[in-house]
Amino acid sequence: MPELPEVETVRRGLWAELEGRRLMSASATGARSVRRYPDPASFGSSLRPAGLVGARRRGKYLGLLLEDGTAVVVHLGMSGQLLLVPAEAQRPKHTHVVMSFEGGADLLFVDPRTFGEVFITRVGEGGWPPEELAHLGFDPIEDEVGPARFAKLLASKRTQLKALLLDQRFVAGIGNIYSDEILFAARLRYDRAASSLSGAEARRLHKAVMSILTTAVELRGSSLVDQQYRDVYGQVGEFQLRHRVYAREGRSCERCKDTIVRVRAAGRSSFFCPSCQA
Ligand SMILES: [Zn+2]
Repeated sequence: MPELPEVETVRRGLWAELEGRRLMSASATGARSVRRYPDPASFGSSLRPAGLVGARRRGKYLGLLLEDGTAVVVHLGMSGQLLLVPAEAQRPKHTHVVMSFEGGADLLFVDPRTFGEVFITRVGEGGWPPEELAHLGFDPIEDEVGPARFAKLLASKRTQLKALLLDQRFVAGIGNIYSDEILFAARLRYDRAASSLSGAEARRLHKAVMSILTTAVELRGSSLVDQQYRDVYGQVGEFQLRHRVYAREGRSCERCKDTIVRVRAAGRSSFFCPSCQA
C-alpha cells in the first residue's frame, strides 16, 4: 500500500507537471472510488474550470487545490495510481476518474482493488487540510515535531510501537513497510510499549522515523513485485532495494547476521531481527 514516501513522490510529480495549469473538465465512473461525495454522476459538474494552485499532502492523503477553494482529495488505498497521460492516450483498465487539464494532459485515477477513493471538498479559511482529514495525527515531513515533543507523545501511550506507528490518528502516513524499517533502524521491537522507552530510545525512534521517510522520499518510494505503486510517470521507486527487514524473513540480518523473522502484530505481518531489536 502506498505510504507517505510514495504519496509524496506522486505529489511532487503532480506539482512539477501541473502547477498553475487549468483543470478543464472531469468525470468519474467508479462508484466505489467516488463513494463519499459527490456521487460519481455529478463529479464532473461539481468542478468548475479553475487553475491548480496547490498540490498538498497529509499522511497518505493528497489534495489538488483549485483557485476557487475547491480541493480534490485522493487516497490511493492498496493499489491506486495517479497517472499523467496525454489526452489521446489509451486509458488503462480500472480507470475510475479522469481530470483533464489544459494543454492536453489527463490525470487518471486507476485502482484495480478499489480501496482507494477520490472526493471533492472545500478548503476554508484555514486552507489545507480540509475538515475530513482533521482526525489525522502529525505528519512527520510536513509538521515540525522535534525529539522532545515526540518523546512526550510516546510517554503517554501504552500501545505497542508497531500498532502506534500504524495508527493514523497518532502519526499520519506510516504503514506496514515503513513501520518495520523504522523499528529496525531504531533497534526497537515491534511489541515494546511506547511508554516504556527510555529518553535515548525515544530519540532513536524519532531519528529513525525522520531518516527512513526522508531517504524513502529521495528514492521515490518503494515498489513491490506484487503491488501497483507507480509515480505519475508510471515509474517505480527504488527504496525497496534498501529494505532491511520488510519481506525478508529467513534471510540474515545485515547488521548482526541473525535470521529475520516474521510475526503477526497489529493484525499485519511484521518483520524484525530478534537479536538487534530489543
Ligand atoms: Zn540483527
